[in-house]
Amino acid sequence: MRGNALAEKIIVIDEGTTSTRTMLFGADGIPLGSAQREIRQHYPGPGLVEHDAAEIWEATLACTREMITQAGGADHVAAIGITNQRETVVFWDRTTGEPLAPAIVWQDRRSAADCAALKEAGHERAVQAKSGLLLDPYFSGSKIGWALKNWPQLHEANDRLAVGTVESYLVFRLTGGVHVSDASNASRTQLMDINGAGGWDADLCALLGVPTPLLPEITGCTTRVGTTDPALFGGAIPICGMAGDQQAATIGQACLSPGQTKATFGTGAFILSASGTVRPVSNHRLLATVLVQEGDVRSYALEGSVFVAGSLIKWLRDGLGLLANAGESEGLARSVADNGGVYLVPALTGLGAPHWRPDALAAISGLSFATTKAHVARAALEAQAYQAQDLKSAFAADGVDWAELRIDGGMAANDWMVQDLADVLNLTVERPDFVESTALGAAMLAATGAGLYPDLASAAASMRGTATRFTPALEPEKRKTRLAGWQSALAKVLG
Ligand code: ADP
Repeated sequence: MRGNALAEKIIVIDEGTTSTRTMLFGADGIPLGSAQREIRQHYPGPGLVEHDAAEIWEATLACTREMITQAGGADHVAAIGITNQRETVVFWDRTTGEPLAPAIVWQDRRSAADCAALKEAGHERAVQAKSGLLLDPYFSGSKIGWALKNWPQLHEANDRLAVGTVESYLVFRLTGGVHVSDASNASRTQLMDINGAGGWDADLCALLGVPTPLLPEITGCTTRVGTTDPALFGGAIPICGMAGDQQAATIGQACLSPGQTKATFGTGAFILSASGTVRPVSNHRLLATVLVQEGDVRSYALEGSVFVAGSLIKWLRDGLGLLANAGESEGLARSVADNGGVYLVPALTGLGAPHWRPDALAAISGLSFATTKAHVARAALEAQAYQAQDLKSAFAADGVDWAELRIDGGMAANDWMVQDLADVLNLTVERPDFVESTALGAAMLAATGAGLYPDLASAAASMRGTATRFTPALEPEKRKTRLAGWQSALAKVLG
């Protein structure tokens, strides 16, 4: 470890889908404190999900100030790292920093028809070759195109309009006007050529209807992009670590060597395998994405994105009233000997990888008078392992065999689910004792950017903590029967 002993704390801003969190870390990766504010979800219609970027900024400011106080002042902070919900887009006024429209959240499906038309016209293969992504409303590009067509105030703003993903907006506000986006976040817009030294791609931008002058400059993930406006925190703190939340979690789990794989079970489930510096190409409907860019060197990951994971448990709680809290699902699952033949296919917002069926609807099958809410809760937790198993098969078909799986995210607190994951995948599953891998990954990036470590690999080796291992223990016959049950339930949903 190197650098000024006074300023060796790191603040991470972790801008999630449902909350803004900030964390204070020592340069050794030890967490020292945290603050959190909920972010309101706006659902103005079916398939529409919006955030208020002004609320995100206010929450970020308040939570960051708490961590600055805890650190003992801005002088004690070596760097700020940012990690964020990916793909969500913000539209703002360059002269004031104020949002000009609602932020369109990654879960929002409003551009589904535009994507379907582009797919129909045969563009998907060319789009995938450049962007690594499939044509789906999930990604930012079609959301921006939709907004520019439908929201006149964006045209009226003319040259004042700036567009970016959430980290881009926060950097703009924190620095007082720097308009950048890191390569890992930029790779999720579907507007970037992720190959080699590629940047915003004129063909992709034209196809999705996005003029490039609106977009930020693409930077590395450990690049010092600016310093905070001294008026905000009483000092100019360097911002020098940025990555999308799933890439940050992969880094925080120290999955940097080709084949090392992590799964985050939060609102959705996202499994990423590091690919090294060679861009992966999927033939099985997985995504190729930038994992990290250090200086000019890009490394990649193969990704499987499942849209519904923890949100299924939230729905059992809030939508069906089956649970008082998410943790209760564990006791219910343990209270029955097996799933009683019940399978839950959680296509509540269509299905993501490897099916990519935005139109699919969820189903609970195998019900009888013997079914209790415990069976339904167990089926909901089991569905996490089945979805992961389907991704394991897709990754293997693309030539990436998982040797073990490192997991994190809110659902990873559920011991029953983690053991079931090990059983169904027939793999060792490792859970870090400090489960905030996303924030830790951003801290590793910021520590590297601040020069506290010579490179990201050294930061990851020094800052990663201890972990608990879960080993598979399910009889092969039972595993086979359960997987067959899942496949037949899934087949009904896929039609
Ligand atoms: P995000 O970062 O996507 O907002 P988190 O990683 O904080 O999400 O995870 C929250 C999700 O995890 C919620 O959807 C919640 O339902 C689920 N969850 C939290 N605790 C448990 C638990 N013990 N068992 C199952 N699911 C849980």
